[in-house]
Amino acid sequence: MPNHRPADAPGQPPEPAPAGPEASPYWRVRRVVLGYALFASLWILLSDRLVNLLFQDTSLVMFASSMKGLVFVLITSGLLLATLNRAVRKLVAKTDELRTSEQKFSNIFHLSPDAIDLSRLRDGAILECNGSFEKLYGFGRAEVLGHSSLPADLGIWVDPADRTRHGDRLRTEGVVLGHEAVMRRKDGSVFVALLSSALLEYRGELCNLTLARDITAQKGVEEALRESNQRLELATASGSLGIWDRPRRGGAEIWNDRMWELYGLAPQPVPPSYAAWLASIVHPDDREATDAAIRNALAGTQPYDLEFRVVHPDGTIHHIKSNAQMIRDPQGAVVRLIGVNRDRTRKVEAEAEQRRLQTELMHAEKLDSIGSLAGGVAHDMNNVLAAIMGMASALRQACPEAEPRAAALDTIIRACTRGRDVVKSLLTFARKDLEAVGPLDLNSLAEEMVKLLRYTTLSRVQVRTDFQEPLALIEGDAGALNHALINLCVNAVDAMPEGGTLDLATRQAPGGAVEISIRDSGKGMGPELVRRSIEPFFTTKAMGKGTGLGLAMVYGTVKAHKGTIEIRSEAGQGTEVVLGFPPLAGAAAVQAPPPPRPAGPMAPIRILLVDDDELIRLSVGPMLAALGHQVETAESGQEALDRLQAGPGADLVILDMNMPGLNGAQTLARLLAIRPDQRVLMATGYSDDSIAPLLQDRPNVSSLRKPFSLDELRDKLADPGFPAPGAGG
Ligand code: ADP
Ligand code: MG
Repeated sequence: MPNHRPADAPGQPPEPAPAGPEASPYWRVRRVVLGYALFASLWILLSDRLVNLLFQDTSLVMFASSMKGLVFVLITSGLLLATLNRAVRKLVAKTDELRTSEQKFSNIFHLSPDAIDLSRLRDGAILECNGSFEKLYGFGRAEVLGHSSLPADLGIWVDPADRTRHGDRLRTEGVVLGHEAVMRRKDGSVFVALLSSALLEYRGELCNLTLARDITAQKGVEEALRESNQRLELATASGSLGIWDRPRRGGAEIWNDRMWELYGLAPQPVPPSYAAWLASIVHPDDREATDAAIRNALAGTQPYDLEFRVVHPDGTIHHIKSNAQMIRDPQGAVVRLIGVNRDRTRKVEAEAEQRRLQTELMHAEKLDSIGSLAGGVAHDMNNVLAAIMGMASALRQACPEAEPRAAALDTIIRACTRGRDVVKSLLTFARKDLEAVGPLDLNSLAEEMVKLLRYTTLSRVQVRTDFQEPLALIEGDAGALNHALINLCVNAVDAMPEGGTLDLATRQAPGGAVEISIRDSGKGMGPELVRRSIEPFFTTKAMGKGTGLGLAMVYGTVKAHKGTIEIRSEAGQGTEVVLGFPPLAGAAAVQAPPPPRPAGPMAPIRILLVDDDELIRLSVGPMLAALGHQVETAESGQEALDRLQAGPGADLVILDMNMPGLNGAQTLARLLAIRPDQRVLMATGYSDDSIAPLLQDRPNVSSLRKPFSLDELRDKLADPGFPAPGAGG
């Protein structure tokens, strides 16, 4: 068996032999022989002198001389015996020790679950191998001994270069630990082996003791683990999942990198404590609820399924969803929590935006339906008012100034005028089209507005302006827009009873829209008020002060201009209303000339009044008669056509737009077919959508807004833009 100590088992380099001469047994023999030679020489040289010195008596000297040889032998024998005794005892002890050690090594060698072989370094011949070696490589002991692992022999190395590398390292370093190599069995199958080798001397030859262990399965597990880790990493990264693992007591919590990202933090070696997390990361408003929910989850009263907000260091707020699994010990106590966190901010924001859009849509729909309702009511009201106004005007005409009835009639007419304004506002709110549309400069409109404001509110309110020049033109109805601006300014001034500032500004918005902003420093509105303020008849003002129609009208006008309205306000913080209009490409502003005032009374004419509403026929008829005209009435379009065809005709036909059967437009077309030069006034109630095309290229056709007063009718008939034709019929 090899000459080594059990402690030199593979894994430990063998101890080199001690260097001193004392250790060598030959030196001990030399020491004994040298001692003997020295003693013997001294004995020969000095023994006679010693005898002569000790004994004077000749007979005694003779006796001592004959005995000294015997004494020498006795002394040297004694010494030799003692020396040999010691050496033999030592040798026996050593041999025993060696035998146990060899036994131990032999046991290790043969019982080891690892494959062990001992091969000669010189030629690689395997001198010894254990049972595990036979099992691992599939060779019988007889097939192995005397053979080598060379490719041409046993060929157990799949890559011969690997074998060479291993051998080289062993020669230079004396020992090789944990060398991984792919090895081949007798049947050709391969496996991954973990090899450890050491050089040692055996029977006077340098040998290589190698231990081999099959780690294929372990490698597979490692590989699978690495792959599954990679997959998990990929899944958590692509799902943007933060993963955390928190032991209940003892041990630090573990976060993946994504967890830090979720909180807007740079990864640190150790996550913050629960208390620090709650106090510094969770949104202040969510701390209490989150803490309670986590405690409930730990107590088992509810699942660990939380949503809370966190505040990033940059101040942004993020919505986090957190789910966790609780790992329990056999007694049911939670020992560990493993959780997944996700950022739901985008989803939450999208949901909020959707809710907002939905509310906005509902609001717009509500305004639309109120609009059509208001439009219908206003249309009917209009006719009622027209009847009252017509009758009252006619009666007033016939009434001498001094009579008390005259004042009463004037009051009726004034009341009707006010009623008409309300109706007009409602019609504006419900309107879909505009009357006089043209290119328009919002700046000059706003400047006019400022002049008016300076006259009326100078003492209380400071008006400031910031008009962007140049400003793109828009396409609009100057009258309607002016009215809208007045409404907004009146609201602003009303909101500042103690005074304040009113800012008017125009600008070209980044998207291209032309914007005008009316901002006051008044009492402002809460969100609910902002939402309701546009509704018609919604007012917070005292009876008689507000109608609640101002913003409704503005809304109607803006919509008719395909514009936008935004009300920004907060209670106590003032209000800003921003109107935006699409710009008009490539047109110059045209200032509408002021309408010329009519002059003088007019000659009596024959009028045919066509209206399905009896109230109108009964009121407008006398009104026209009061002006000195001759009036006939028809209650439908067909009747009017029949009458014009059969009778002498009329100088003027006043034609209602809105009639059952043939409506105004249809009647007009047929009428003009019979009498192309017929002068016609279209009486319109609605802010009429369809009136403009009817007037196009027809100088003898004009329109008149219902209800109209006597004066308005007179003005219209005298309008030079509506010239009297040469012949009436
Ligand atoms: P009205 O002015 O007749 O009340 P509006 O439609 O113009 O009707 O306004 C409706 C309501 O909206 C007002 O009663 C007021 O409460 C509120 N409001 C409108 N504009 C402002 C403003 N600039 N500041 C504060 N509140 C306003
Ligand atoms: Mg108002």
